[in-house]
Amino acid sequence: MAKIQMKTPLVEMDGDEMTRILWKMIKDELLLPYIDLKTEYYDLGLENRNATDDQVTVDSANATLKYGVAVKCATITPNAARMEEYHLKEMWKSPNGTIRAILDGTVFRAPILVKGITPYVSNWTKPITLARHAYGDVYKNVEIKVPGAGKAELVFTGEDGTEIRETIHTFDGPGILQGIHNTERSIRSFAGACFQYAVDTKQDLWFSTKDTISKKYDHTFKDIFQEIYEKEYKEQFERLGIEYFYTLIDDAVARVIRSEGGFIWACKNYDGDVMSDMVATAYGDLSMMTSVLVSPSGAYEYEAAHGTVQRHYYKYLKGEETSTNSIATIFAWTGALKKRGELDEIPELVAFGERLEKACIKTIEDGKMTRSLSLISSCENPVILDSLGFIKAIRETFDSLS
Ligand code: NAP
Ligand code: MG
Repeated sequence: MAKIQMKTPLVEMDGDEMTRILWKMIKDELLLPYIDLKTEYYDLGLENRNATDDQVTVDSANATLKYGVAVKCATITPNAARMEEYHLKEMWKSPNGTIRAILDGTVFRAPILVKGITPYVSNWTKPITLARHAYGDVYKNVEIKVPGAGKAELVFTGEDGTEIRETIHTFDGPGILQGIHNTERSIRSFAGACFQYAVDTKQDLWFSTKDTISKKYDHTFKDIFQEIYEKEYKEQFERLGIEYFYTLIDDAVARVIRSEGGFIWACKNYDGDVMSDMVATAYGDLSMMTSVLVSPSGAYEYEAAHGTVQRHYYKYLKGEETSTNSIATIFAWTGALKKRGELDEIPELVAFGERLEKACIKTIEDGKMTRSLSLISSCENPVILDSLGFIKAIRETFDSLS
């Protein structure tokens, strides 16, 4: 069979440890035999980030802005232990943080559902995609431990010297204080990314904050979303038959639990941090969770939500058998290939991505899986495969589908 041809290259961001091993297996077994794969390759492995003074991460993000679609392998975020392990010149920043800052993006996380792995919330029959605002609030806070009695004030001094002043609290003893902020620009880009992703994936968009209590801060989020919806997206939403729905966060959590899923839930930074862990856990497993960063300029970066699976890598290095689940990394590739196919109008590429995703799900539903999946699957007698064996099984399923 002739290989599928591509037009524009994908930005390929290679990574670290076990996921780097899976990366190569996925390319060799599942992609290169079928696609004349065109990528612009960036090695984001920690050694190369160190060698290039992390310039490679910046370059890969800029390439994503240029070409529009990237696929990223999990990468190490260095800490003290990694400084020693890799003899690093510096404790390089999280690549995801660097890329997110350049793309100015919003991260959407969605679970991959398969029969036999039932969400803890039994009525969740469709995925819930969580969109987390990734700038500001408590993550860029300023805090004071108040030593004793005194007055705390919130003061804004404009460039022209005008002052706005509010009393926060008059303390009669020790206490605590916190200052947080956000910017209209960041909230607008968050809202834009959420509406655009809802249109792309033809799903309803829910947004929730605590605007009844936070009448200026949270209310601004609500107002900006409403304004962008009405000005830029209302017509498209109506045409697609999808809905934008704002509700108070308390009401949202209750509705989310009672829902069947199948929508995007946009959350402020802290809410998104907490709720994405809750939603991911309830769906079963981090290794069945995909993640895509969408920039307001229309660039997409696909990846798995899990890390580099370090413990498995050390086993692999010792020559021991590993059974690492490659599904989320495969879905990062299929997501990127499908998007590339859509943008470049290559229907075969889109069909390839869809067929590979189907093959992944069918392989697991047929009872062939990795060890961690067998622990949460209700499948009677699962066949537990090693890392490469699982990928080969997916290839067999892929070839059998037509
Ligand atoms: P992790 O790599 O996600 O792994 C944590 C544990 O979850 C693993 O030890 C494994 O459990 C299980 N697991 C995760 N993915 C799995 C998979 N695909 N198949 C089977 N089991 C899987 O998180 P971590 O150990 O906290 O972090 C390791 C490195 O990844 C760190 O250096 C961190 O900086 C980096 N990280 C990168 C990203 C990213 O690039 N997006 C995200 C998170 C973390 P068992 O060991 O019990 O089998
Ligand atoms: Mg968290």
